[in-house]
Amino acid sequence: MSPTSQAEAALLASVPSGLFIGGEWVDAAGGRTFDVRDPSTNAVVKTIADAGPEDGIRALDAAVAAQEAWAATAPRTRSDLLRRAFDLVRERAEDLALLMTLEMGKPLTEARGEVTYGGEFLRWFSEEAVRINGRYGLNPEGTGRMVVSQRPVGPSFFITPWNFPLAMATRKIAPALAAGCTVVIKPAELTPLTTLLFASILQEAGLPAGVVNVITTTASGDVSAPIIADPRLRKLSFTGSTPVGRKLIAQAAEGVLRVSMELGGNAPFVVFEDADLDEAVDGAMAAKFRNIGQACTAANRFIVHADIAEAFAARVTERVAAMRVGRGTEDGVQIGPLIDDRAVAKASDLVADAVARGARVLTGGEAIEGEGTFFAPTVVSDVAPGSAILQEEIFGPVLAISTFETEEEAVRLANDTEYGLVSYVFTQDLARGHRMIDHLETGMMGLNVGVLSNAAAPFGGVKQSGVGREGGLEGIHEYLSTKYTLIPVG
Ligand code: NAD
Repeated sequence: MSPTSQAEAALLASVPSGLFIGGEWVDAAGGRTFDVRDPSTNAVVKTIADAGPEDGIRALDAAVAAQEAWAATAPRTRSDLLRRAFDLVRERAEDLALLMTLEMGKPLTEARGEVTYGGEFLRWFSEEAVRINGRYGLNPEGTGRMVVSQRPVGPSFFITPWNFPLAMATRKIAPALAAGCTVVIKPAELTPLTTLLFASILQEAGLPAGVVNVITTTASGDVSAPIIADPRLRKLSFTGSTPVGRKLIAQAAEGVLRVSMELGGNAPFVVFEDADLDEAVDGAMAAKFRNIGQACTAANRFIVHADIAEAFAARVTERVAAMRVGRGTEDGVQIGPLIDDRAVAKASDLVADAVARGARVLTGGEAIEGEGTFFAPTVVSDVAPGSAILQEEIFGPVLAISTFETEEEAVRLANDTEYGLVSYVFTQDLARGHRMIDHLETGMMGLNVGVLSNAAAPFGGVKQSGVGREGGLEGIHEYLSTKYTLIPVG
């Protein structure tokens, strides 16, 4: 089946289908291609180059060749390029949003939101590029001048997931370019088109050849491993699942490669008895159903005080039952398809396991028959300890409620996971809010708010949710290495 409108067809035709290596759009050396599909219809939307290991190394060759000259550019030059890219992303916002909806399925309004969010990393790091500073001072003995300076790490390899096709690319590419690093990026095979369109936008913004290279492939492991093993590579930054992240850390260990890992989450959403219930319900809807529940920051476990659990469940059930499900391009749709059959099967299995252990389905609970990979927005309550849904990332539109009696119990339940990306807490007690900041083991926290990502904030996790931070003042340091020089006082 072909795309459903002429506008979609024209946009898809404008997206490059080759690999972007050394400033040129090229076929895969082996001549192979693969299909990208729309999850709402399963139709092929575009066929693109399928890189092999030799293409990956060619891309690294190009990044290595461009590194020295890029690192030597004036910070203002790098800043101006990023600013032009930001302006172009804003101009092309509708194209980028529609493309993400077509290849990933998210509702168009959310895709527009991602263009804004993803674009902001270009603006933020265009501003940070000219603020890379070191230190200068006398040593305590008074005998030496200590100079601490920052150098770009060098050629960097990025592997990104399918759930935020633009933002996951800009969140890595913008700080790397700002710092003076060149890049090879391998987007997820399910959603590679947005990265290809973004690369063409960078080209239009004046990107020098080889500074960013894009390889699309169905053989992620085979293509990535030789790049990671290559001694010319200086940095690996990955966003994706914890099991794949663990494998990549092991591969990177061989060359003692610097790594940043943005991995999975299992966010607790804690509602205390003193919470403003309207605020908590609004926060819950945003934290759970944004991106069809397919976000690392998605609230996974709703831990609600027993006194208000019934009222909270009734309120969210009313909202969830009224959500409109459909193709993301249709007006008013709030829930698009899940990314593939496996995601639907996982959501079904998690709900079935919870029900078998005594949970009640208040709305939804099953896959929606017919074209595309849809799962009904769902609320389950009375989820028993030990249910798989409390331990695993749901990555779907399922809101699972369990209860607690005391603050200590809430903290214990919230921290009872190997993940530590984000937590959400709803309380009107300021002192309790501060205690939660201290006691919840996560890299980020929303206090009376359900969405907190911002280009100006350090995004990242603790425990098995990862290593490093993206965005904020911290983000650029992932791409800088610190050099200390001592000069004797003459
Ligand atoms: P995934 O780990 O399956 O894949 C992520 C990327 O790794 C894709 O590009 C994939 O092709 C590639 N990949 C898979 N196996 C590989 C291998 N052996 N070697 C090299 N590359 C390999 O994850 P996904 O399903 O694409 O994304 C969902 C996951 O990403 C969830 O766990 C989610 O929480 C996480 N995520 C985390 C963040 C964050 O910032 N912490 C953001 C978005 C998504």
